[in-house]
Amino acid sequence: MSGGIITNYFCTSRCGHCLYNCSPHWEKRYIDLFGNYIPGLCSGLSISIEDLGKPLSDETYPILTTLYHYGIRGLVKMAEDLVGFSPQKDLYINKCDLCTEVRTFLVKNDYNGPKELNPVEFYSRS
Ligand code: SF4
Repeated sequence: MSGGIITNYFCTSRCGHCLYNCSPHWEKRYIDLFGNYIPGLCSGLSISIEDLGKPLSDETYPILTTLYHYGIRGLVKMAEDLVGFSPQKDLYINKCDLCTEVRTFLVKNDYNGPKELNPVEFYSRS
């Protein structure tokens, strides 16, 4: 994985009252209401808090580990094989644009894999 297209927001306050503890003075951990870590740059992906700080398993995180090992090309191949994905555009802004399309396609086409594609509401916007 590399840089995403969404810029992070970091509050300059030290209070830590908000869900994200987004002050630059706090450790950068974004936790959703269900106790899952949200990667800072990649909306729609989550990691169980119990799995932080250790290697992610292929069984529990097939999408993240595919992206890590094989990049966006591997994710496209995975989606082609699992749910018959094919790219809908001739051109993409960048690989994150394609990644989001693939992940949305997986969710909307009954991909019944592990729950790393969360919050699922992220994928209902398009
Ligand atoms: S390719 Fe996907 S996982 Fe990688 S940075 Fe872009 S949106 Fe995130």
